[in-house]
Amino acid sequence: MKWLKGHRIIWAVVGGMLSIGAPLGLWAITFLLPDTILEFQDLAYLYSGIGTFLVFSSFGYVLGGFIEKIERLSRIDGLTHLSNRRYLMERLQEELDLSRRYPQHFSLIMADLDHFKQVNDRFGHLVGDQTLKAVSQVIRNECRSTDIPGRYGGEEFLIICPNTSEMEAYHLAERIRKTVAHLPPNSLGYNGSQTISLGIVALPPSANVMKDLLLQNVDSALYQAKAQGRNQSVIGTE
Ligand code: GH3
Ligand code: MG
Ligand code: MG
Repeated sequence: MKWLKGHRIIWAVVGGMLSIGAPLGLWAITFLLPDTILEFQDLAYLYSGIGTFLVFSSFGYVLGGFIEKIERLSRIDGLTHLSNRRYLMERLQEELDLSRRYPQHFSLIMADLDHFKQVNDRFGHLVGDQTLKAVSQVIRNECRSTDIPGRYGGEEFLIICPNTSEMEAYHLAERIRKTVAHLPPNSLGYNGSQTISLGIVALPPSANVMKDLLLQNVDSALYQAKAQGRNQSVIGTE
């Protein structure tokens, strides 16, 4: 009896009890208050007005809280608690539009863990998951509050950097790279070290570049970082 469990049944019972409790409340008030204070009809108007206001605003408040929680969860990657790919794509388009509308620099960083398959193969997926969480924490710590870091795929990350020049983005990428390379075994989950490669693309103010082309370019810069030996940050030339 799945439908008898969870929030649905709890809130159905609350609603049912209110529908019984409301007329009982009116009856109790008319019973307790002498007729001389208010006519029954006026009392009923007052009671139903105040009661409806309180009940609907309380329900609205609770429902709003649930919606906010669901919205928050729908934007977040379950493992790393960074933004998920869907949210990243939404925000990338929005931030590109904004940087065009209010001419500003705009940068994008794509990062990918080096030889991460070996971590899973040697130490298992649970250890791999811990490594992903540790790297995500570094990315979160190094980013500014206006940056939008997220998990783009398995062991790939994307950082949207509004109002950020090429050099600022490069320095951010290098801070992340160096901090990841020095993560201790108790953070990584295994005895060894982990490196990360990063690609960067930067747009000058008012540049009119399509989202897909930008992603293609940042992916090429990352590919170049891998091809040149990994554990480095490469600025895309396009
Ligand atoms: P490269 O340096 O070229 O990037 O090599 P790589 O081994 O990192 O790249 P490859 O694409 O061959 O392997 C990526 C691995 O990431 C494979 C997959 O098992 C692992 N992976 C992806 N998502 C997760 C995850 O959520 N948890 C764990 N533990 N591993 C994951
Ligand atoms: Mg990799
Ligand atoms: Mg990869």
